[in-house]
This record gives sequence, structure tokens and C-alpha cells, in this order.
Amino acid sequence: MDLPFGIRRITTPLPTRPGHVHSYLLPGDDGWTLVDTGIGLPDAQEVWAASLDGAEVARIFVTHFHPDHVGAAADVAELTGAPVSQGELDYSQCELVWGNPEWPRRIADWFLAHGVPSEITEELIGSGDVYRPFIRFQRDPILVDDGDALDGWELVAAPGHADGQLCLLKDRVLVSADHLLGRISPTVGLWPASRPDPLGDFLESLERTIELAPEIALPGHGDPIADPVGRARELIEHHRERLAFTEASLTDRPRTGYEVSLDLFGAELKAASRRFAVAETLSHLERLVLEERAERREASGDDSGGVAYTARQLGRRAL
Ligand SMILES: [Zn+2]
Repeated sequence: MDLPFGIRRITTPLPTRPGHVHSYLLPGDDGWTLVDTGIGLPDAQEVWAASLDGAEVARIFVTHFHPDHVGAAADVAELTGAPVSQGELDYSQCELVWGNPEWPRRIADWFLAHGVPSEITEELIGSGDVYRPFIRFQRDPILVDDGDALDGWELVAAPGHADGQLCLLKDRVLVSADHLLGRISPTVGLWPASRPDPLGDFLESLERTIELAPEIALPGHGDPIADPVGRARELIEHHRERLAFTEASLTDRPRTGYEVSLDLFGAELKAASRRFAVAETLSHLERLVLEERAERREASGDDSGGVAYTARQLGRRAL
């Protein structure tokens, strides 16, 4: 595939959908900048050795801490001797989630509070333990942030899919990672310890993409995006529709994020997919609360701290 400026793309397999993830090699005077590292499957280092085929990697950049992007960072760093740069906020979340043996329990409790049945949350704890060995992030990376330069590329914050998601921009080429995907709508979920309004963040990030007006976007999954501005507009519209649908599924009776997720995503999901469905539902519900189109009810006392949502009570403000 011909990419602008001699950029190279390396695709590695994923055991789960969408089945692949793209990394990019950006050419520079002192060697390549490698963007993202794929998941840390047991043979990651051999796969990378073969893919790089002697290419001189000067630095590694991780766009966000999700397993398919950060997973093999330590392997590739060891293989190439190149330093790893990662966003400051993103790295703190990376440590919190993947460097913390208590995290699966914490996330299970949080999903319980949002109405997810315990069979599903227990399964999530089990699958979290299965995935953990495949996430070998690099400890103590060089911390970077929005507006910083990396070998002539500008780092552009695009919170939403991940709070600390960073893209790279140069000469109207956007290496978008999972902020902008062609055919898939990037997941935008509310998670424990995440920023309070990920969907609001995402919609703002899309507006910023429209202002930056890139001519091509190179995503973490799927084909290059020939019309990034048009795609950003489509995603904004998609979420406006999803917000309306979410609002319509609320009533006077409090409903949990889990219950609403059954309306939005159907009842036939495996535990791992339900996790994303509930997180995505919650990001929409929280946006509706902020737009005063829904209300959140939190159970007081110690009865597991349940959270539920109702339709906005018209006139409540006036009382
Ligand atoms: Zn991804």
C-alpha cells in the first residue's frame, strides 16, 4: 500500500475482532518512528523482528494504552533498543489498569453497581486474568502531551476512545490511531477512573479534527481514511442518533446502564462484548445527564451503591 511521505504500515494479528491492528513507521533523519506495537502475543518479538527486517527504529510512540496498541511495547523496546514515548495521562491510566492486580475486582464491582449480573462480572474477572500476560507495556516511558513535537510530528490530543488518546499530525496527514476509524465506530465508554464525560470529549475531539482538516487519516484498524473531515462529521451524527435512541429508552422507572444496554445492543452478547456495550451505554447516559435530558439516581446507603437513570422529569427544575 502506498502511503504519503514514505510512511510504512505494519499489520499484526489480534485474537479478537477486528482481527488485526496497524502500526506505522514514520521516516525520519535518525531512523523510523514506530507508532503502536500491537498486542503482546507470546511470539511478539519474533513477529516484530521479521516485520522490521532490520529497519532502524529511533523511537517508539504509543498512542493509547489499549492492549492492541501498548501490548508489545516492552518487547519492541527490547528488540530495537529504542525509547518509548507515551502520553502522560495515558501512561497513568496504563499503570492503573494493567499494572494493578486489584483492577479486575474494581471493574467488576463497578459493573455490578451499574446492574450487570454477577455471572457476567465474574466471567470478566476471569477473562481479565487471561489477557493480562499479553499486555507488556514499557515502564517509565518518556512522558509527552498535547502540542509536543515528536520528530517533526505534532501530538494532538483526541480524548474520547481513550482519555489520553494522542494522534500525530504533519502536513495534513493524521495518524489517528483509534480516534478516527473508517468503517468501525470507535468505542467510547465510561469506565471507573475515566474522565467524567468521554462522549462529550469525543464529540469535541471530532470537532477539532474538522478544524485541523487533515487530508488523510491513518487509523489503527481498517483502510486509510480519504476524507477524515467527512468521517468526523459522520461519527458526530452517529452519536447524535445514539443519544436520541438512548434518551428514548428511558422512562420514569429508574433503569441501570446494563438494562439500557440491552435496548441499545441487544440481549445476545458474550461477557466481553457486554462490557463494552455497558460502558458505551453509560457514556451516552452521562452525556444525556449533562445535557439535562436524563437524570442519574444513586442509591444511598450501602446496598452496593447502585446507579440508575430516568427520563428527565419535566418541570422538576421549576419546583
Ligand atoms: Zn485499537
